[in-house]
Amino acid sequence: MGIIVQKFGGTSVSTPENRQKVLEKIISAKKEGKQVVVVVSAMGRKGEPYSTDNLIELVEDIKENISSREMDLLLSCGEIISGVLLTGLLQSRGYKAICLTGAQAGIITDNFHGCARIIKVNPELIHYYLNQDYIVVVAGYQGITEDGEITTLGRGGSDTTAAALGVALNAEIVEIYTDVNGLKTADPRIVEEAKTLDKVTYNEVCQLAYEGARVIHPRAVEIAMQGSIPLRIRSTFTDDPGTLVVNKVYPYEGKQIKGDRLITGIAQITNISQIKINSPEISKMEIKKEILETIANNNISIDFINIFPEQIVFTVPDTLAEKVEKIIASKGYQVSVLKNCAKVAAVGAGMTGVPGVMARIVKALTDEGIEILQSADSYTTIWCLVNNKDMKKAVKALLKEFDLAEE
Ligand code: ADP
Ligand code: MG
Repeated sequence: MGIIVQKFGGTSVSTPENRQKVLEKIISAKKEGKQVVVVVSAMGRKGEPYSTDNLIELVEDIKENISSREMDLLLSCGEIISGVLLTGLLQSRGYKAICLTGAQAGIITDNFHGCARIIKVNPELIHYYLNQDYIVVVAGYQGITEDGEITTLGRGGSDTTAAALGVALNAEIVEIYTDVNGLKTADPRIVEEAKTLDKVTYNEVCQLAYEGARVIHPRAVEIAMQGSIPLRIRSTFTDDPGTLVVNKVYPYEGKQIKGDRLITGIAQITNISQIKINSPEISKMEIKKEILETIANNNISIDFINIFPEQIVFTVPDTLAEKVEKIIASKGYQVSVLKNCAKVAAVGAGMTGVPGVMARIVKALTDEGIEILQSADSYTTIWCLVNNKDMKKAVKALLKEFDLAEE
């Protein structure tokens, strides 16, 4: 009998009505004869009583006195609460169900509290219950170290739990249920006309996720890819098939090799600052090295780095801009900071070696009067830095240019 892993995000389990929709998805898989493992997130978003944000707020005033160890203990409760609730609801519908914490489910992590990585899964207990016809509900986003300490996996961690269980259980598929119909060509909260993609590769979705498309955690995609377990991103609230994530979008049919999509989608990260260091004295490579090392030694990771003879340009999150400015100014170099920028990324495996993609992007943006503050490209991604206020217009312009918008 095949195993299916179904992960339900915060919105999906947030209200009694939504939880009924979740039950329908689980029960329907069970009726198809699957062994079902359910991974749950904490209920709801900011402001809702048992959400992760609310648990964080609970200790806001004494946060200096809460260690990362205790913080993880606290945060792991949100998923346990929603897991227990869902288990009870399944039992009230006459199904055998059991709720397991991440630790009980055998999710072993390293010891980086707050952002732990799964290093191993011991799925014996899950198999034991599945073989007795239980629906196994696992609290997402958490695990246990080899020393027995509870850890959490960071934002989006329940996706990672689901993917790791999918691989460990050799599941037929991992379904990521959320509040949108699948992976879209852009964030539907930014542009309504984004199209739903029916099939994408692990690489495409991973790249989009790294560039800010938070519909799935990139680490979850990497784990599924390594284990060759298909993923499906779909909505809890509709019957749409959603987006299938696999190795190849176009199978080789022996006749014609179809190319990859030129651009698969657009993603963005907002609230970043562009830092420019301008000084004739930095023309010496030694000084450039020293500046970059000082920033790194302060544990600040920088992005979008361009080095010119008398200039260094890079970006950091807005929240770190002042710190970086101070560090550089204290060394006596001239620095300017432009806050409130957004990094807009166009991702597509098919752009490799195709001439003129950057030119089309520049034209699409400048035709809309959008100033490009910086740009960069790699094999599969082109990035443009724009002002936050132009971000939405930029995403829309690129969707239109590459035919990625709904008519
Ligand atoms: P969950 O709580 O189910 O994990 P998330 O909020 O983490 O839900 O992810 C779903 C959200 O991801 C959607 O509501 C949507 O706004 C956002 N999103 C960002 N980029 C995309 C994209 N390219 N396609 C679909 N959704 C996206
Ligand atoms: Mg999520």
